[in-house]
Amino acid sequence: MEIKIDRLNKVYNKDFYALKDITLSIGNGMFGLLGPNGAGKSTLMRILVTLMKPTSGSIYVDGRDIHKHRKALRRMIGYLPQDFRFFSKLKTWEFLDYSAALSGMTNKRERDEAVDQMLEEVGLFDARDRMAGKLSGGMKRRLGIAQALINDPRLIVVDEPTTGLDPDERIRFRNLLSKISGQDRIIILSTHIVADISSTCNQMALLNQGEVAFQGTPEELIDKARGSVWKVILTTRELEKVKEEHPVISTVMMEKGWEVILVASELPGYQGEQIEPDLEHAYVHYMDKELNEYMIADF
Ligand code: ADP
Repeated sequence: MEIKIDRLNKVYNKDFYALKDITLSIGNGMFGLLGPNGAGKSTLMRILVTLMKPTSGSIYVDGRDIHKHRKALRRMIGYLPQDFRFFSKLKTWEFLDYSAALSGMTNKRERDEAVDQMLEEVGLFDARDRMAGKLSGGMKRRLGIAQALINDPRLIVVDEPTTGLDPDERIRFRNLLSKISGQDRIIILSTHIVADISSTCNQMALLNQGEVAFQGTPEELIDKARGSVWKVILTTRELEKVKEEHPVISTVMMEKGWEVILVASELPGYQGEQIEPDLEHAYVHYMDKELNEYMIADF
């Protein structure tokens, strides 16, 4: 399966470009779309699942323009929106059964089987008779993913799926997604949380102010940050000064002073060592570079 996004633009309120000339290709597996709040991720996801039209540009799934084949496409999509809501008057299993019927599963016996299996899969089987509206935040999120997966979709789009989940639930959720990612299936995960992507995705893109700032593998992004991430020990005064000049990723108070991890191409005047970057360091490094280039271009 393959998705090609070709010169996509979305304009809100006549002249605000929420998406600017987005061109991306996405292959089988898990694709992470990473970017700060307001970058345009939800807009792109809504266009991809055909809930919204772009101002210009096209998206092709296996060579077919999605806006010309909306019906066929919707049948193969599972979507978990950021602001997922549901009828609170139904029991957990009833809600899932209803979602399955809506997605085209008309055979009652098949549906019963799929509902039970999915409840088991997301760890809600014991809560099947509880009112859906009374579930905890994490359980509601899991019910959200269950309704997105119930008809075994080939394209799964999840928007900020781990927001509001505790660390345990977050890990469980990521594991569930990696488990179902397989041949001839694409899972797109849009998030501002770097760890959602580093632990699961084989492909990714960075979206910033409506533009694709990077597309590749997480390793390629990490490669770009190599040599620019430092660990230094600083006094409180030095830390204040450094913060004004460089993006600081973490600070920990130690006996000998502040242990600080920061991004800088050079670090003259301080005793420090370069460390091996991870995806979070690479993200901060890239966004910092983007911001600097943007400011230089502007002023
Ligand atoms: P993200 O999901 O990355 O946080 P969004 O796609 O929600 O980004 O929003 C991108 C930008 O478009 C933001 O500046 C947001 O305020 C704006 N925006 C989103 N939806 C609308 C809308 N319906 N009308 C006008 N502006 C919008």
